[in-house]
Amino acid sequence: MTMIDPKAVLSKVTPTPFKENNLSPKEKKDKIAHLFTEIMETLGLDLSDDSLKETPLRVAKMYVDEVFYGLETASFPKITLVENKFDYDHSVIEVNIVTNSHCEHHFVPIIGKTHIAYIPNKKVLGLSKLNRIVDYFAKRPQIQERLTLQIHQALVTILETQNVAVVTDAMHACVKTRGIKDVTSMTRTSKLSGVFIQDSSHRFEFMSAIPRVQEVVY
Ligand SMILES: [Zn+2]
Repeated sequence: MTMIDPKAVLSKVTPTPFKENNLSPKEKKDKIAHLFTEIMETLGLDLSDDSLKETPLRVAKMYVDEVFYGLETASFPKITLVENKFDYDHSVIEVNIVTNSHCEHHFVPIIGKTHIAYIPNKKVLGLSKLNRIVDYFAKRPQIQERLTLQIHQALVTILETQNVAVVTDAMHACVKTRGIKDVTSMTRTSKLSGVFIQDSSHRFEFMSAIPRVQEVVY
């Protein structure tokens, strides 16, 4: 079994704009709770109301512990690989991986599914690790294009092969509930490399295994 070093993977991945501020998770929550109190008071809300008074701390905990833990290197999933002793040399395809993120322009949800294919080189990855890698990068403020690239680059690095394909289908709350208010549109982003680009039979096998974009059910 090989253990993966998160820093080695993250150094190969398109960075999320990030500046280390050296605040602990507790310090981050205290600061966000304080600042969110100001946002709510600025909106004219009465924080002495018993339904509202815990909201700033609830939002702070949600940001740090639940929806943005992918900003912490320490939260990167523990990944072990096993030798491909059986010389498996066809596609491994996993579809409909839950991909719940937040748009970095409006801080509202992106709700989607990611579909992945790879052809093992010398090592294979536990299937649930694909889900964990998707979840880690989804738990950052994101744009869908970067999210797909980060997942792809992490897998290329971990699996030591270019034979990786990633497609993400998602709906954006910021498109649905504000601005253009388009309730039906969906967005697909993809990054294919290695045989998935060079060989149409591999590409066809993957693309025909994944749901059509309008068939993705949330
Ligand atoms: Zn947005």
